[in-house]
Amino acid sequence: VNNTKIALVTGANKGIGFAIAQGLGAIGFTVAVGARDDARRKEAVERLRAADIDALGVALDVTSDDSVAAAAATIEETAGRLDVLVNNAGIGGRTDGGAQDPTTLDLDVVRTVLDTNVFGVVRVTNAMLPLLRRADAPRIVNMSSNMGSLTLQTGPIMAAYAPSKSMLNSVTAQYARRLADTNVIVNAACPGYVATDFTGFNALRTPEQGAAIAIRLATLPDDGPRGGFFDDGGVVPW
Ligand code: NDP
Repeated sequence: VNNTKIALVTGANKGIGFAIAQGLGAIGFTVAVGARDDARRKEAVERLRAADIDALGVALDVTSDDSVAAAAATIEETAGRLDVLVNNAGIGGRTDGGAQDPTTLDLDVVRTVLDTNVFGVVRVTNAMLPLLRRADAPRIVNMSSNMGSLTLQTGPIMAAYAPSKSMLNSVTAQYARRLADTNVIVNAACPGYVATDFTGFNALRTPEQGAAIAIRLATLPDDGPRGGFFDDGGVVPW
């Protein structure tokens, strides 16, 4: 993979993450399929390879320090650097029994959701940054949601999930400021409402449509934009 760009997509075994892997693979990236389940990861890698994509499976649970460190070591051995990181893995969290009604909020659900959607992104990003800094045009894309927009306040009331994406947006802005004088470009993306397991497939947009904004932000030119929040239509208000 010396001359081929390499991208790591977290949660790439299905849904929007798989479509991002497929889309980046189709434009010539080597794709590291980050997935926590061995069987699901292998199946995704096989599907990508069947589509002539240069894919490798990387065991990755974003909530585990050990798993994330091992994933970084695997990518270092394989490619020696990382060109693109898409932090796509995310969970909605339990909603039964009013668990995400703010007035009856189950704080364990909040902790679980933050652990994946926010701390997972920080954990993976910090493990991968030394590899990203070795690339010519490193890009980081954080999969957020317009449910995290404090301006729009869209979607159902979900008092663990929506704030997790607001915090992810804030974390994105912090990274962008910290990395402003480097070539590492960091942005947040909203995929729209997409038919995946996440939405019970009750949505009109396809995973490929949801993946498009992430692919665009993963392949931005050197002049940015940086530190923004975008969907297919352009800027999403924070
Ligand atoms: P899916 O539920 O279809 O896929 C989620 C992916 O994340 C799966 O691959 C899942 O792996 C993985 N994942 C979850 N937890 C972990 C973990 N601890 N470590 C590694 N991987 C993990 O969801 P979508 O494809 O719909 O969502 C992808 C992203 O897009 C999420 O961040 C979501 O919040 C965001 N989003 C989705 C919207 C939609 O309409 N679908 C709208 C707005 C944002 P596994 O198969 O092992 O569970």
